[in-house]
Amino acid sequence: MKFQAPIGMKDLTKESKLYRKLEDDFFSILTQESFTEIRTPILEDKKLYSRSVGESSDIVSKEMFETLDGLVLRPENTASVMRAFVNDSELCPRLAYFAPQFRKERPQKGRLRQFYQYGFEIIGDASPQAEIDSLLIIQKLYQKWGLTNYEIQVNFLGKKIDRENYINKLRTYLESCKEKLSNLSKERLEKNILRILDSKEESDQDIIKNAPIILDSLSEESKKQWQKILDLSSLLNIKLVINPLLVRGLDYYTGMVFEVVDTSGLLGSQKALGGGGRYDGLSKELGGQDLSAFGFAGGVERLIIATNLDNDKDQMKKIGFVTTEKSILNTLFALKKQTKDIIIDINVDTTIGFKKMFKRANKNNCEKVVIIGSDELANNTFKLKNMITGEEKICNYSYKEIVIKKLMDEE
Ligand code: AMP
Repeated sequence: MKFQAPIGMKDLTKESKLYRKLEDDFFSILTQESFTEIRTPILEDKKLYSRSVGESSDIVSKEMFETLDGLVLRPENTASVMRAFVNDSELCPRLAYFAPQFRKERPQKGRLRQFYQYGFEIIGDASPQAEIDSLLIIQKLYQKWGLTNYEIQVNFLGKKIDRENYINKLRTYLESCKEKLSNLSKERLEKNILRILDSKEESDQDIIKNAPIILDSLSEESKKQWQKILDLSSLLNIKLVINPLLVRGLDYYTGMVFEVVDTSGLLGSQKALGGGGRYDGLSKELGGQDLSAFGFAGGVERLIIATNLDNDKDQMKKIGFVTTEKSILNTLFALKKQTKDIIIDINVDTTIGFKKMFKRANKNNCEKVVIIGSDELANNTFKLKNMITGEEKICNYSYKEIVIKKLMDEE
């Protein structure tokens, strides 16, 4: 019986080199910015997420992989990082991770059930410096990865009291046009009213367009904080696009929230490259001190699609050697050792025959294949097959005289 990888999950083979590179790039920038890596367990107590992300969030209400004993596969990393920090306040307050997360969503392009996130948290910093530092780090990362087609959308959710005031206004407004709302939004009116603002349903759009916005419900203090962030970012040339409908789905956000949105169109409907915000109440909610915090998480798979980074995975040229003659192996391996910039793929097998070895070389994306059987060996010749054009020719010299680079350039 043959088994497939679970739905929405992938074996990473060719891509793993790219993941390693992205992880190295990520930590090289993050350590320059005084972050320390953290690796948290893949399983966590389910209650950790109901207390932080929120009972009514999509993640907790329908997307968690649950085990029998109250544990779940980690759907995001912020709550785990904060849990770890609450338990050990000696930890570095700037923590970064590059790790798989799990959500039981309907898979599609850019949406998987196991996906990787690169993310970081700045704990204990209530000043707008945390917001600005984070935005600068994100710009640095994307510059390193050659990502240019994106915008940073921001909104400000204020303090809990600002949000409560806003929710009251929003509720009054939405109740007044309840009949026209989509069924999903009608449901959210009871459970998670802010999420109505990111509804994609056609019938909700006009209603949302005219809804009150949170920026009008902020206290004077919150407005000042928001203005400070905007002033600092404009001073530093960080371009922000204000999106009053951006609420992010999770309960723990306060203050600024933001999303990095792909503008290349390569991601289809899953445009969010990453997101984050301020979550000042989370430490206390998880039994720790009343600490401020700010964080960000980006999705690796969406980054790869948006940057086309996987396109250069086969840029190193490859040549295959297919032979039944074990006596020539030493020479071939010596050749392999000397050759840089071109991959030499040696297939030697006296049992499976040329055809199968040939297939293997083809599967390995060899551009050309050198064939040496007993006749060629006796005549001091070899065959050269161009796997792209399908042409095959006889080269009238010994395999010992092969110069790989010349062979690759030959027509
Ligand atoms: P979130 O905290 O849900 O906004 O997730 C942060 C980022 O992780 C998103 O902007 C995506 O880039 C990525 N992400 C979230 N869910 C998935 C998923 N199911 N598949 C792939 N990437 C995801």
